[in-house]
Amino acid sequence: MGGGVGLLAFMKERLMSPAHVIDIKGIRELKELKYTSGIGLSIGACVTLAEVAQSDAVRQHYTALQEAVSRAADPMIRGRATLVGNLCEAIPWVDSPPALIALGGVVRVNGPRGEREVDLGNFIKGPVDIELQPDELVTHLVLSESPPSRRSTFQKFSAGSEFSVASVAASVVLGRRREVRLVYGGVSSTPLRSLEAEKVVAEGEVSEAMIQKAAHVASRSVQCVSDVLASADYRRHLVQVLTTKALKRVFER
Ligand SMILES: Cc1cc2nc3c(=O)[nH]c(=O)nc-3n(C[C@H](O)[C@H](O)[C@H](O)COP(=O)(O)OP(=O)(O)OC[C@H]3O[C@@H](n4cnc5c(N)ncnc54)[C@H](O)[C@@H]3O)c2cc1C
Repeated sequence: MGGGVGLLAFMKERLMSPAHVIDIKGIRELKELKYTSGIGLSIGACVTLAEVAQSDAVRQHYTALQEAVSRAADPMIRGRATLVGNLCEAIPWVDSPPALIALGGVVRVNGPRGEREVDLGNFIKGPVDIELQPDELVTHLVLSESPPSRRSTFQKFSAGSEFSVASVAASVVLGRRREVRLVYGGVSSTPLRSLEAEKVVAEGEVSEAMIQKAAHVASRSVQCVSDVLASADYRRHLVQVLTTKALKRVFER
């Protein structure tokens, strides 16, 4: 248990009945959020969403993550829930996974067989299913050093509840060869990239027409699902709107 926000809700609904619950909040080594130039950002498993949102280093170098966590849930939940818990919960509507995957890095895992690292892009395997053995613990997230020319943003649509009906995290490293990641949350059982839309942004001249084309391609290529929150058609529309907003924001800075 990190913050316990998700775990206790699942336990109250009898969706999880663990024989033992181990509260890791008191482990001092897991409370550190540290940015090291040339290496990146290390976030311990007990760092809360509020602490991430308030960090100057996160605001300066990892804008998409700052925007994702500062709009998640409400101030009370942000003060208790951890970023690692938000990722490990792996429910489709949470906000940090698309931002973390767009920014890139690793999940540091520890257990009886020692330490290992899992690429953030491979960590969520399915809804409530992560690349972690039952006897292992996530100790840190480590985001790669952010190049100075990177622009990133997170946009979501939540229709009244806090959870995302659809979201996008966009990261663009400007330069002669643009590096682009567009990662969608809330639209399917796991976060999804649109490699097709990324190609349009990486190769096209920056213009209104390019942004519209990328948004159109994203809405065609991202496999959206229907559920109690929204239909797949509506989500495809949101993908188009949110991609347009995100790319305009990235290129206007
Ligand atoms: C009313 C409400 C509104 C919400 N709105 C939003 C929202 O808008 N956006 C959003 O993103 N989220 C939202 N949430 C979800 C909430 O943010 C998550 O439940 C929370 O971030 C989970 O973090 P936690 O630290 O409380 O995790 P916990 O509840 O402690 O754990 C969640 C799961 O992760 C596992 N876990 C935790 N830490 C570790 C670790 N170090 N290693 C391995 N496994 C671990 C636990 O075993 C458990 O299975 C909302 C929740 C509620 C109740």
